[in-house]
Amino acid sequence: LAERLQSTMKKITGKGKVSEQDVKEMTREVRLALLEADVNFKVVKDLIKRIKERAVGQEVMESLTPGQQVIKVVKEELSDLMGGEQSKIAVADRPPTVIMMAGLQGAGKTTTSGKLANHLRKKHNRSPLLVAADVYRPAAIDQLETVGQQLDVPVFSKGTDANPVDIARDALEQAKEEHHDYVIIDTAGRLHVDGDLMAELEQIKAVVDPDEIFLVVDAMTGQDAVNVAESFNEQLELSGVVLTKLDGDTRGGAALSIKAVTGKPIKFAGMGEKLDQLEPFRPESMASRILGMGDVLSLIDKAETNVNEKQAKELEEKMRTMSFTFDDFLEQMGQVKKMGPLEDLMNMIPGANKMKGLKNAQLDEKQLVYVEAIIQSMTKDERQDPGLMNASRKKRIAKGSGTSVSQVNRLLKQFNEMKKMMKQMTSMQKGGKKGKGMN
Ligand code: GDP
Ligand code: MG
Repeated sequence: LAERLQSTMKKITGKGKVSEQDVKEMTREVRLALLEADVNFKVVKDLIKRIKERAVGQEVMESLTPGQQVIKVVKEELSDLMGGEQSKIAVADRPPTVIMMAGLQGAGKTTTSGKLANHLRKKHNRSPLLVAADVYRPAAIDQLETVGQQLDVPVFSKGTDANPVDIARDALEQAKEEHHDYVIIDTAGRLHVDGDLMAELEQIKAVVDPDEIFLVVDAMTGQDAVNVAESFNEQLELSGVVLTKLDGDTRGGAALSIKAVTGKPIKFAGMGEKLDQLEPFRPESMASRILGMGDVLSLIDKAETNVNEKQAKELEEKMRTMSFTFDDFLEQMGQVKKMGPLEDLMNMIPGANKMKGLKNAQLDEKQLVYVEAIIQSMTKDERQDPGLMNASRKKRIAKGSGTSVSQVNRLLKQFNEMKKMMKQMTSMQKGGKKGKGMN
């Protein structure tokens, strides 16, 4: 179906304004794509209506076809509907901040509790306490304890005989005594939404007064996820949603409906069983995924607004011939900054996230400041030929840029890896054009 969408898009050519006919043809396919991706039909209906209103009569951008222009509107509407990126976690005025996890059995609560603990500790340098409040499912406590051991994060539990409400209350006490700044309460689930479960969750909520209540939803459950989210939200008033198992091949249309129906943001995405496989939820790339067109579109989108085409061509040529230097690197950095995190950009290129070496080459924004300083402290020759670098030059550069030799070394290493990566990437894109695998 995604292919049909693509081919309809190609069929519609010409320039000028987007005609009513263009929009009609495109939205017919878009509608099917959305329904196939499991988006709630009412949500689809509203969406199509808005898209029609907005797209008809739009000026077609220089480098786009009318079909692409419509898709652009579709994408904007989809990502608007899902809200911006909102992966912030609350911070209580007086610690500890309490996060309560809720959701059906098997949704991924326990795993996500561990992932959040890991995220808070690694990314935010916090000291979380995990709380085993699922006393019903056999081995649920063991499971959380194993997670805790893996992460070296303490787990509070009182065995299977204790009452979950008492467990939550006592855990909070202990967290205060031991100066944990986050408490993550892993609660029980049921196979279906049921009154007992909700009552218990409400009681826990009343006792610990959580700063966040996250609903964990399995992205593979499709339409059903919407009803689940709706009832949990009615009972508990959620603060956000974590969508798990997005590493599977589900198109994830539920994401769209959940936000539309509950009004609550999807904050994180579970991208695998491992405890570091949690990512901020990105509406932009989710929109492309739901449309089934890979993230290529959003790459075009971003690149178009930010990089002038000629420069991009030159860069590509440089990547290809491997004459990429630190000067180019510096120039690119300005653009990379405009385009958002490098990581995001890489994720949009089909297959790029599978490339080895990418991890090491990732640069975060803070690092970019140092990188800039280091490169600016290099001489012209050094920038052109990193091979010149020796110990005394590195020392001089470190001094000049207010960094350390090891930071300089790290940049050199990253630079080399980036070069390697670019080489892989360009050969891959050339070889891979025929294939249709976009995700
Ligand atoms: P709970 O019953 O809600 O606590 O769910 P669990 O945390 O025990 O997870 C149920 C199953 O889903 C386990 O096998 C997890 O490894 C798996 N799981 C959880 N999150 C993800 C995810 O993001 N991706 C994948 N592939 N599996 C996940
Ligand atoms: Mg569990």
